[in-house]
Amino acid sequence: MEQRSIVFLTGAGISAESGINTFRSAGGLWETYSIDEVCTPEAFRRNRKFVLEFYNKRRAELHDKLPNPAHRMIAALEKDYGSRIINITQNIDDLFEKAGCSAVMHLHGELTKARCEFCGHTWHIGYKAIYGDEQCPDCGNHKTRHHVVMFHEEAPLYWLLYATIDRLFATESMLVVIGTSGQVLPVELFARAAPVSILNNLDPEPAIDDRVFTHVFYEKAGVASARIDTLCREYLEL
Ligand code: NAD
Repeated sequence: MEQRSIVFLTGAGISAESGINTFRSAGGLWETYSIDEVCTPEAFRRNRKFVLEFYNKRRAELHDKLPNPAHRMIAALEKDYGSRIINITQNIDDLFEKAGCSAVMHLHGELTKARCEFCGHTWHIGYKAIYGDEQCPDCGNHKTRHHVVMFHEEAPLYWLLYATIDRLFATESMLVVIGTSGQVLPVELFARAAPVSILNNLDPEPAIDDRVFTHVFYEKAGVASARIDTLCREYLEL
């Protein structure tokens, strides 16, 4: 029989206590910037410099941010249970990596990587700014961009997300959703397919019917993480 596994699906809320604003919170980024100006392919075509600068600022802000107990809880589970822990995130920050996670599926890209617009190669740039003319280490061309999926762009890893969800929910697995409003991904649908599920957000969300979840915690992820950890370990040890 296949061993039980856990799929974590996280969003901006898990990094909020580390000092990274969620998009939709009061004081969040979209109160300062309009999506149409900085987060669409049209905006990037119109004003490449402005969009690159926006992501340069977000990248620089990551430098001193530290993982919180929720990131560390997932890292500790991965350390103890290896590939039975599937870590899928919508986040583009590097807090899971800083917490010690080694296998993170970043559905929407990573701020700490650049991407070649010619060949699609991605490479690690840490917290450095990019200006769009850096040379691709793979094909040698000079057209570089942030490695972040913008609105209206395809997210290449979605097929892997859906394949993972299909495969795991055909077997015994638990879904743990932390810090996402469900406006981008249909987390409620995923929870309906999961035998056991946990939801942790600050407040109820219009896009998520929490009645489909087995356990619901409306509180900070850093606070809920101790109980989520216990539930995960109990589930994996059964
Ligand atoms: P969202 O902003 O739409 O929703 C955030 C959710 O987190 C809300 O439901 C809120 O209740 C919850 N939340 C806020 N603080 C929390 C806390 N301390 N503990 C637990 N939950 C908390 O975020 P989303 O659903 O991830 O969608 C926004 C998109 O923006 C994503 O696609 C993501 O890629 C991107 N984003 C990423 C980052 C990041 O990398 N840290 C930050 C902002 C936005």
